[in-house]
Amino acid sequence: MPPKCPKCGSVIYSRRNVLCGVCGERLPQELLFTPEERQVVESQLDSMKQKEQAERASQPELSTYAPTSPMLTGTTKGWNIFPFFRWIVRRFTD
Ligand SMILES: [Zn+2]
Repeated sequence: MPPKCPKCGSVIYSRRNVLCGVCGERLPQELLFTPEERQVVESQLDSMKQKEQAERASQPELSTYAPTSPMLTGTTKGWNIFPFFRWIVRRFTD
């Protein structure tokens, strides 16, 4: 049973879309991700945070050089995480 738009009833073919492709209604989060998928994403976020904290703890000299979080600067070790976080935020905030 595919998920449907609560407003116009159109079948939602891609749960990567935040808005209904037919009427433009913002789709509820539960239509976009199954609980299992949410759990995977959240655990990935957790492990990413833990890894960053571990790296910062093992490199205390960086904290004086770069006191801001990598999430604020958008980069950590040259890997731009900002698009990923904007992607996550769009799906977990309303
Ligand atoms: Zn719709």
